[in-house]
Amino acid sequence: MQHYDAVVVGAGIGGLCAAGILAKRGKKVAVLEKNHTPGGVANSFRRGRFEFEISLHELCGFGPDDRPFGSARRVLDALGLSHRIDWVRVPEAYRLLTFEGENPIDARLPFGIEAFTDAMERYVPGCRGAVSDAFLLAAEIRAALAALGAARTTEEKAAVLSAHSDFLHIAGMSVEEGLAALGLPPRAADLMKGYWAYLFTDCTELSFLHYLNMFNSYIELGSVIPRNRSLALSLEIADLIRENGSDVFLNAEVMRIGTENGRAASVTIADGTVISADDVICDISPAVVFGSLLPPEVISSADRRKTNARELSGRGFCVYLGLNRSAEALGLTDYSYFIYPDMDTAAQYRAAAAPETNFIQNTVCQNAADPGASPSGTCMLTMTTLFSSDCWGNVSDADYQKEKEAFAAQMIVTFERAVGVSIRPYIEEIEIAAPQTFARFIGSPEGAIYGYRAAEWDSILARKMMDAHFSQLDRLHFCGGFGMNLNGYSSAMGSGMDTANRILNREAKK
Ligand SMILES: Cc1cc2nc3c(=O)[nH]c(=O)nc-3n(C[C@H](O)[C@H](O)[C@H](O)COP(=O)(O)OP(=O)(O)OC[C@H]3O[C@@H](n4cnc5c(N)ncnc54)[C@H](O)[C@@H]3O)c2cc1C
Repeated sequence: MQHYDAVVVGAGIGGLCAAGILAKRGKKVAVLEKNHTPGGVANSFRRGRFEFEISLHELCGFGPDDRPFGSARRVLDALGLSHRIDWVRVPEAYRLLTFEGENPIDARLPFGIEAFTDAMERYVPGCRGAVSDAFLLAAEIRAALAALGAARTTEEKAAVLSAHSDFLHIAGMSVEEGLAALGLPPRAADLMKGYWAYLFTDCTELSFLHYLNMFNSYIELGSVIPRNRSLALSLEIADLIRENGSDVFLNAEVMRIGTENGRAASVTIADGTVISADDVICDISPAVVFGSLLPPEVISSADRRKTNARELSGRGFCVYLGLNRSAEALGLTDYSYFIYPDMDTAAQYRAAAAPETNFIQNTVCQNAADPGASPSGTCMLTMTTLFSSDCWGNVSDADYQKEKEAFAAQMIVTFERAVGVSIRPYIEEIEIAAPQTFARFIGSPEGAIYGYRAAEWDSILARKMMDAHFSQLDRLHFCGGFGMNLNGYSSAMGSGMDTANRILNREAKK
């Protein structure tokens, strides 16, 4: 039996970062990945002359060299990889389009606090003061969350809260309540809710603190994509792990996690190989770990209850299109399109429970950021939506292909109608990923792609206050989109680094 300091189950971006940090600090790590490439959804695939990005629309939390801030930047700097990736900066924040009601929205919002505030003032005269206040509040949230992360005892945490009174004041507010408290006119509030689908909890329930923190990160620091897709990032981290004497095993599905003396101690791979380790880090869903990988008798009732109480966030559906016209020729001048019927997010979240009523989408045109992303005279569009129920789980095998294609067609028509650009005559390649595709590809329950829903009881603040680690079983850790920091690249990467640091700190104390 081989022994490692740590094994990581799943080579998603969170697991790779955890392994990378441990390997750089001299630990011997084995990353075990069931697929034939590392990265999980941080990956790409080819169809014809197009290489499609599977997931990454934009990476936030990666400030430029003159402002090297943000969670992704912190992790990539620690790994020494910030300059090993060829980055492309995303040109603008988003174009927000609604298409129902009397006064539909068509607004283009830029990156940069000043430019964003100016644009808001142009769209909704008189909102400048409230928008500026939102950014001041966001700065306080960032400072308070950093201080809370560093606080070790309950007393220290209480001291942080009393030092940040505005933070405490908004801690229990939803996005709707927070934006209203700032005095934003309803139209301005609607423009600022553009990113809500990235967290996929409606704004009557989504924590204002969490949303504003993410919103500020995008607007203040902008966002990036690797020119060679997120796979370039995954491959760089995998290389770094190997360069530092550790291993990344592909086609290695973990079937069981073994325990010894009340702690996680080994994993068994599909071919029967057993690997023992001091720590087991899971970059996969706790429901899978507690439901099928661990022996039931070692799972505490608290872990069982918490895992059952957590709700899945959106189940993913994507349409990847390769078009035989350039973005310029088609009039696709924007990178990121948020398209919603209207900005009643509670109604839209409910409607996203079924294909026939789900008209939400975020579509990106990669060529608008990187004109050379596909061959000259072509461009790529990726349309993504999420479902708030497991409606695709009820589709029979016989109907699956037909229903998948029908819903993809609905997304394409919605895009054409909202943006006013015809794309159907120019489709050269099309690939569709339904929740079933994601369930199979990354093993996530119901094809959930955004981890757990940021319910109020399970928000980032609640988790930080309670040190809500996901397992009471000694030496078992979680990271990634289902981990402590909730979903998204920078969160998953940050949780990977935090997990590695917790293990390193424990060892240092010993
Ligand atoms: C379509 C889409 C668009 C997105 N857009 C963005 C965006 O623009 N910005 C952003 O920040 N975030 C975005 N996200 C979210 C982001 O991609 C995820 O939060 C993040 O990549 C999750 O990483 P992870 O570490 O949880 O790993 P995952 O990508 O979930 O990978 C888990 C890995 O574990 C492996 N695995 C599972 N079971 C086993 C097993 N038993 N044994 C071995 N290996 C196993 C899987 O094969 C997989 O490789 C998007 C996601 C999707 C799907």
